[in-house]
Amino acid sequence: MIKTDIIIIGSGPVGLFAVFEAGLMQLKCHLIDAIPQAGGQLTEIYPKKPIYDIPGYPSVLAGELIDNLMEQAAPFKPGFTLGERAETIEKQADGSFIVTTREGTQHHAPVVMIAGGLGSFEPRKPKIDNLTDFERKGVEYMVKEPEHFLGKKIFISGGGDSALDWAIYFAEHNNSNVGLVHRSESFRAHKDSVEKVHQLQKAGKIEFYTHAEVVGLQGQDQLSSIEIKQKDQENRIVDVDVWLPLFGLSPKLGPIANWGLEIEKNAIKVDNTLDYQTNIPGIFAIGDVNTYPGKLKLILCGFHEATLAVQTAYKIIYPDKRFTLKYTTVQGVKGFD
Ligand SMILES: Cc1cc2nc3c(=O)[nH]c(=O)nc-3n(C[C@H](O)[C@H](O)[C@H](O)COP(=O)(O)OP(=O)(O)OC[C@H]3O[C@@H](n4cnc5c(N)ncnc54)[C@H](O)[C@@H]3O)c2cc1C
Repeated sequence: MIKTDIIIIGSGPVGLFAVFEAGLMQLKCHLIDAIPQAGGQLTEIYPKKPIYDIPGYPSVLAGELIDNLMEQAAPFKPGFTLGERAETIEKQADGSFIVTTREGTQHHAPVVMIAGGLGSFEPRKPKIDNLTDFERKGVEYMVKEPEHFLGKKIFISGGGDSALDWAIYFAEHNNSNVGLVHRSESFRAHKDSVEKVHQLQKAGKIEFYTHAEVVGLQGQDQLSSIEIKQKDQENRIVDVDVWLPLFGLSPKLGPIANWGLEIEKNAIKVDNTLDYQTNIPGIFAIGDVNTYPGKLKLILCGFHEATLAVQTAYKIIYPDKRFTLKYTTVQGVKGFD
């Protein structure tokens, strides 16, 4: 059981800034995110786009902003459970909460902050009848720990950055060659990655199947082969250990919608007159995931919401103490040892 002061569900910009604001009050945080890296929409959708409305930054790349937020949160040593979706939340007799992920990791804290944005990013799945039989038994939608795949025969489907980046990674790090299956000949990935994939194909490290798709999966308990349909060719069966269909991720509010929280327009209703608390005391919702009159889904609004929410979180965690707000210019940033 992971124990902390505040469980933050969602490690987008707003969840990360909440760590900093909580840290200034000497509160410890642990973040849970369904995707294997921090950053939410900024790293998942637009890491290379410049953002122009972050105060003090005339322009900052989305990926760079996340790096800076991670650096800003670092002195407060946040914990992370990444690549796991928060599935259930149970209120305990003492008012605290246990949040359990789909993978079974349990987290315990007196306060929960939902910074879930548009929802957890879920993989777009191909339509293959027996797909679910092989999920986590050879079929994987994300690469959480790449070293687990080394030494295995890997096939990847997709034509975006994620598919190409992993094809390059495994072609360069694995002993056996990597298969890449794509519906067309053009890619949605960076030009550099496309060039690199072609170089690795020429070097015999990537087997390339264009105008092709995976249409069938075979195996006993574990995936052992895939069936590839390619334009103007007979379908062929190829032996594999791992198939990674990397067709992108789409956000879904998901399990949060079943936690007894008041939901309006696919977002969580909060009290914006005070502290962005939900209808369940001790559970806050900050950033894109909440709604209230006049709500704007902007990063700077989420930062403000996080700052106010941690003030009440402190009172819940330490009902007998009083916290006096001091400017960081006066008190500095005292991290945890
Ligand atoms: C193309 C684009 C451009 C944009 N440009 C700007 C801009 O210029 N300026 C601006 O202010 N805003 C911009 N935005 C909006 C901005 O990205 C959002 O306001 C911001 O990402 C909200 O941050 P967040 O931390 O609330 O949520 P998100 O960034 O959405 O992060 C939420 C995280 O929560 C996780 N999560 C959700 N549910 C669960 C669960 N059950 N278990 C585990 N994890 C979960 C998700 O996986 C995700 O990583 C833009 C958005 C897009 C798409």
